[in-house]
Amino acid sequence: MEESHAVLPVGVSIYKLADLIEANKEELARLETLDNGKPLTDSLNADLSLVIACYRYYAGWADKVQGKTIPINGPYFCYTRHEPVGVVGQIIPWNFPLLMQAWKLAPALAMGNTVVMKTAEQTPLSALRVGELILEAGFPPGVVNLLSGYGPTAGQAIARHRDIDKVAFTGSTEVGHLIMEAAAQSNLKRVTLELGGKSPNIVFADANFEEAIEGSHQGLFFNQGQCCCAGSRLFVEESCYDEFVTKSVERARSRRVGDPFDSNTEQGPQVDQEQFNKVMGYIESGQRDGAQMLCGGGRLGDRGYFIEPTVFAGVRDDMKIAQEEVFGPVMSIIKFKDVEEVIQRANNTIYGLAAAVWTKDITKAHAIANGVRAGTVWVNCYDVFDAAAPFGGFKQSGMGRELGEYGLQQYTEVKTVTIKL
Ligand code: ADP
Repeated sequence: MEESHAVLPVGVSIYKLADLIEANKEELARLETLDNGKPLTDSLNADLSLVIACYRYYAGWADKVQGKTIPINGPYFCYTRHEPVGVVGQIIPWNFPLLMQAWKLAPALAMGNTVVMKTAEQTPLSALRVGELILEAGFPPGVVNLLSGYGPTAGQAIARHRDIDKVAFTGSTEVGHLIMEAAAQSNLKRVTLELGGKSPNIVFADANFEEAIEGSHQGLFFNQGQCCCAGSRLFVEESCYDEFVTKSVERARSRRVGDPFDSNTEQGPQVDQEQFNKVMGYIESGQRDGAQMLCGGGRLGDRGYFIEPTVFAGVRDDMKIAQEEVFGPVMSIIKFKDVEEVIQRANNTIYGLAAAVWTKDITKAHAIANGVRAGTVWVNCYDVFDAAAPFGGFKQSGMGRELGEYGLQQYTEVKTVTIKL
C-alpha cells in the first residue's frame, strides 16, 4: 500500500483555492474596489466570478496534460513528457488585479511550476489576501511568492533574474519591450506578453441597433475604460452614423458615475492621479485635433479621479485619440463606408488585441472575423470572456495566449525521450 502524502495533488489544491475564494468573495470584492476604484457590483459579478471559474477550469487540467508516444524510424521507442518550465516570474497590472492573478497563477500551478508574482504598485491588496488563501488551500510555502513592488525595481529584477525560467507579463506595450530586452540580455527566459490595444469595434447599419449601442457603450466604458481590449476605435457605417452618434451620446450622458460602493454606480474613479492626468491629456488632444466633443470632457466633482463619460465624433484615423491607448472613459466614433475599407483601416495600427463587429449579415461578420488581425473577434457581443477561450494579441499586442488549453503550452517544456529497443 502507498503511503499517503501530506501534499495534495496540485489540481485538488487549486480547486480548494477556488472554493476558498468563493467563500471569501465579498471581502475580496471589497478589497478590489477599495484598491482599484471599480464599482463593487463589477468586482463581485464580473471579476470574482471569472476568477473563481478560472481557478476551477485549470484545476481540472492539472492531471490531464500528457505527452505522446511517437513512432520514429529504427528500433526506438520515442515519447514526449510535458515538464514544468520551472520558476515563473509573473508581472501583473492594476486594472483587473485578482483576475490577472488568476489568469497567470492558475495555469502555471496546474503545470507544476513555482511562481514569483509581482502585483501592480497601485493595487497590491487583494492578491495578498489570496496569498493567505493559497496557504490555506494546502500549497507548500514557497510555491507561490507574492511581491508588492514597483516596476523599474522589483519588476525589472524579475525580468533580469537568471534563475527565473520564464516571465509572463501583462501591461503596456512600452514595458513589454523592456521585459523582452531584459530576458534577451540575461538568460533567454521564455517570454509571454499581453500588452496594449486599440481595438476596432465595427458597427454596420444592418445591426440590431439597440444591442450595438449598448454593447459598444459597455465595450468602451466598462471598468472606467481601463481595459486593454476596450473598443476604443468605434467605426460606424455612414448610413447609420448620425443616429448612432446621437444615441451613444445619450447613453454616455446617462452613465452613473460616483461612489464605487453604491450599488447603482456604473463608473468609479480612474485608478490614480497619473492615469487621470493621462486621460485628461488625451481629451485635450482630441479637442486640439478637431474632433467634436459631444459630451463629457471634464473632471466630475473636486475629489477623487472621476472623469465624465466623454464622446468624440468626427474622429479621423490620424488623430492621437485614434492611434494611442487612452485607457479611460473616452469614446471615439469614426465614420466608414464599406467592408474592404474598414478592414484596411481597422488593421492600420501597431496593435492587434481584439475587435468586434455588429451586423445581421453573416457574410460581413465572417469578412471582419477573417480580415481583422486581432487575437479575439467578437460578433454581436463584446468582452465575452471564458476561462476556456484563449486570449492574447497579434502584432505589438503581445505574444502567446492565456486561458484555455492554449494557455497551458506557455507553462510547459516538451522533452523528447528516445530509447533504443
Ligand atoms: P500601466 O501603464 O497600465 O500601469 P505598466 O506596463 O506600466 O502598465 O505596468 C504593468 C506592470 O508592469 C506593473 O506591475 C508595473 O509595476 C510593471 N512594470 C512597470 N515598469 C516595469 C519595468 N521596467 N520592468 C518590469 N515591470 C515593470
